[in-house]
Amino acid sequence: MELANRVRQVTPSMTLEISAKAKAMRAAGIDVCSFSAGEPDFDTPAHIKEAAKQALDSGKTRYGPAAGEPALRTAIAHKLQRDNNLSYEAGNIIVTNGGKHSLYSLMMVAINPGDEVIIPSPYWVSYPEMIKLAGGNPVIIPTTAEAGYKITPAQLQAAITKNTKLFILNSPSNPTGTVYTPDELDALAQVILSTDIYVVSDEIYEKILYDGAKHLSIGAISPEMFERTIISNGFAKAYAMTGWRVGYLAGSNELIQSMTTLQSQSTSNVCTFAQYGAIAALDQPQGCVEAMRRAFEERRSYILPRVNNIPGLSAAKPNGAFYLYVDIESVGLPSLEFCSTLLDEKHVAAIPGIAFGKESTVRISYATDLDTIQRGMDRLEAFVQSRL
Ligand code: GLU
Repeated sequence: MELANRVRQVTPSMTLEISAKAKAMRAAGIDVCSFSAGEPDFDTPAHIKEAAKQALDSGKTRYGPAAGEPALRTAIAHKLQRDNNLSYEAGNIIVTNGGKHSLYSLMMVAINPGDEVIIPSPYWVSYPEMIKLAGGNPVIIPTTAEAGYKITPAQLQAAITKNTKLFILNSPSNPTGTVYTPDELDALAQVILSTDIYVVSDEIYEKILYDGAKHLSIGAISPEMFERTIISNGFAKAYAMTGWRVGYLAGSNELIQSMTTLQSQSTSNVCTFAQYGAIAALDQPQGCVEAMRRAFEERRSYILPRVNNIPGLSAAKPNGAFYLYVDIESVGLPSLEFCSTLLDEKHVAAIPGIAFGKESTVRISYATDLDTIQRGMDRLEAFVQSRL
């Protein structure tokens, strides 16, 4: 069968592909140290699992409303007010099959062929592909390690054309861990408000912050900016719920209604009893989130000097998320070859920077235990030494 053109121009997700390969190698008995997918190694907190089990036992096993269980949409609206100072009603929220699905559906309802979406690079692997699937054109703004992988208002301004529809902002960032300050967000907001574009604020890493960094949603900057902001978030990273597939998007009634129509004709509701776990995640005390954040912080303090002490590698200190973005330029290998040889020879999995739009870099996820980090860094060190 001849396949549709739309799928031919899309590349598979390298984060998922490499982490699946690492998991398969491990299942085959190979001792792999995986720094590939951004997936917390913790089990989902017990009270969240308990709430889902109770929901299962009490018959929450049937179809629900396409936009999500009303109680979860309300809990999310409360969370956005409480944590982010954003005033949404339950009707402004759609529950999706994870943050990735939120963004994909958004592109499907917002983008017409030829529309442009601005993405700072390095970017999360899936942004450009989703835009292409929707018929739009990703417009990439490169950033540098020296600039903290942040775009400037002037860069944003220069990238905006009459075709620009959206600007994707991801702070804290995957893959760099960059966190924009309130002043920097304010400056970007001024550019946005001088045009008619919207910002998609991907806030999935908002709870994973270090060194006193604070998360500010760009939508909380002013009432005008609130109107121009679409929030994407989910439960995977903060609550170790990657496999549950529960995310959400907040925006205008019109946007949520059209995404609900799309969802009603494609995926229907998110797994009903999983949504009850998500309600418990938001409504119960947040100690588990802080405990996991502290563990990531401890790992960061170990891994950062380890990487920077390897001659030929360097990484900036990330203020958020759980990734190190490592410069491998001195090693002289393309990032894809670096990662595939590292996996084959040393059984260490990392993601090539090319997946995030930047050669000569690799992403190392430290959402894994300290023992694996220690052993993986020994192997990485030996690998780089053998190549220099
Ligand atoms: N977002 C995570 C990552 O970047 C999980 C895998 C994916 O969906 O990309 O590794």
